[in-house]
Amino acid sequence: MILVKRTLDLENYLDSFRKDGGSVGFIPTMGALHGGHMSLLNLCNKQADITVCSIFVNPTQFTDYSDFLKYPVTIEADIFELEQAGCDILFLPSVEEIYPTGTRISKVFELGELDHFLEGKYRPGHFQGVCQVVERLLEIVKPDMLFLGQKDYQQCMVINKLIETTGMPVSVVIVETIREPTGLAMSSRNMRLNQSEKKIAAGIYACLIEIKNDFQVKSFPVLLNEVKEKLVNSGFSRVEYVAITNAGTFEIIDKFEKGKPAMALIAAYVGDVRLIDNMVLTTP
Ligand code: AMP
Repeated sequence: MILVKRTLDLENYLDSFRKDGGSVGFIPTMGALHGGHMSLLNLCNKQADITVCSIFVNPTQFTDYSDFLKYPVTIEADIFELEQAGCDILFLPSVEEIYPTGTRISKVFELGELDHFLEGKYRPGHFQGVCQVVERLLEIVKPDMLFLGQKDYQQCMVINKLIETTGMPVSVVIVETIREPTGLAMSSRNMRLNQSEKKIAAGIYACLIEIKNDFQVKSFPVLLNEVKEKLVNSGFSRVEYVAITNAGTFEIIDKFEKGKPAMALIAAYVGDVRLIDNMVLTTP
């Protein structure tokens, strides 16, 4: 694996690789790598000729600066994992490499409703920061394929919109969520949970399963309220949302629509650790 810190070095290397006709797959991450990241990497290794992974904890996408400061950093273990998994290039830029003119977001990314509900509502400015960094990374790496996790489904929708708006020639591959045996979605933030908090956190998955089992027979407001109460009673310190959307349009829906795939989404805190997860609700 080659470790590259400078933008220009990466651009030069990838330009010459592309001239030889190779396809580039890209996995942007914020590090503290786990099995979820590795499943993106494994798929990328299969589909692209060269796998580029980036580790960059983007300061501009944190609504709360203290959350940024607490974000886990495990760079040595990450490098080891990536090398073992067959990553070709690790891009490890500094803030100055990504934002040579400063971190201020100088343009508005038009994201419509995506910027205002669910994650957009509870993390104001978050998706503007995500678009700022992803646009910059895509300009540097110019990948043929971009690998994203379904766990951050709204983020996938946002990045799809960014790519559509900018017309960048990259295809997005969305990879299913990898979970712990308890059902807890793997996440870098899980590192901040102790064993008993992890048990509580697994309640999100149990609730998603409950929604999946009942969404065709119960009224949505009743079901969503029951789930919220269950989360609070089982030890979650705060529940931001429990929602059902149309999986295609990603609009919030308030009743079962036969034949249309839906998605349940939850955001809740265990202590001061914010967790999100989702599940596609299949209809017969
Ligand atoms: P992050 O480092 O948290 O920014 O995540 C980098 C990429 O990994 C994003 O596309 C995430 O959606 C994806 N990802 C995070 N957790 C998981 C998971 N449990 N399963 C699959 N993909 C994931």
